[in-house]
Amino acid sequence: MSFLKYRSIYMKFLVSLSFLTLSIFSFGQVNPNTIELIDYSDFPFAKTNINIENSSSDSNHVNANLLSITKKYWDTTTYNSYKNVKIDFPVEIKFNDSTYTPPINFKKVVTSRYGWRRGRPHRGIDIDLVTGDSVVAMFDGVVRFANYSRGHGKTVIVRHQNGLETVYAHLSKYAVKTNDIVKRGQLLGHGGASGNARGSHLHLVVNYKGVSINPEYLFDFSEKNKIRAKNIWVTKNWVQPGLHNSKRQTKLTILNTKEEAIASLEKQKKVYIVKRGDTLSGISSRNNVSIASICKSNYIRKTTPIKIGQKLILEYVF
Ligand SMILES: [Zn+2]
Repeated sequence: MSFLKYRSIYMKFLVSLSFLTLSIFSFGQVNPNTIELIDYSDFPFAKTNINIENSSSDSNHVNANLLSITKKYWDTTTYNSYKNVKIDFPVEIKFNDSTYTPPINFKKVVTSRYGWRRGRPHRGIDIDLVTGDSVVAMFDGVVRFANYSRGHGKTVIVRHQNGLETVYAHLSKYAVKTNDIVKRGQLLGHGGASGNARGSHLHLVVNYKGVSINPEYLFDFSEKNKIRAKNIWVTKNWVQPGLHNSKRQTKLTILNTKEEAIASLEKQKKVYIVKRGDTLSGISSRNNVSIASICKSNYIRKTTPIKIGQKLILEYVF
């Protein structure tokens, strides 16, 4: 009994203490939950729209940083708000963490990769799920788009502090709205097959200023959930689906400096002599050089017959 009595007195003490603290805070100080500390002069959207009620009160400066990414090219009505923006590759993408939060909370099965697929570019990675499964944010960020997009169906796009946008497509249901601040791991919506999808899956895209990067260059989609490095230089080779095959992972060499990135672009050439039984697709897959690239460097068409003894130039871009 005496323990309970002491506990009750202790609780009363705590309540009055926190009341006192609150009074001190509200008198002459800015409520830590407001975002008035930020200069809004060039924030056309942020002042009225950004929803901070879901974020924790101790993250004022985090909110300020996140809001800075909503300053430019913040169009919540379109899939790509960076239309006509030119990017000079290579670009550096920086990460503070060594892991990402997996967008689904069970083992990831990748059913299709970034790259050329059925004669068209596939600019994301497909992760298997069942309609209704939760889809969560990979990193902290602000929801830039939560709407129907042609082909992608119901789509949520989150912009992150480092300039990347992660895109979660073919959803069946939204759990956020545009301008919401989200934490990594926060529910964004439920998976599905909306838009142009063959069966339910998550089509995950990683964009930088409107350009899709091969997500596997940045992230390891095994159960390790690793970010491949803290500083990653992205060359134009990693943003061209035509140089990748949706059926297999491209050989990875992570470029950590600008010098490495530039050096990697100096094409390595190799001369290949056609043998009996060779086909363009066989040479292409054995040498990890796309058919398109072989055709280009040898001034031939995909349909041009190749002869035994013919010399073909293979240009490696990775
Ligand atoms: Zn896809």
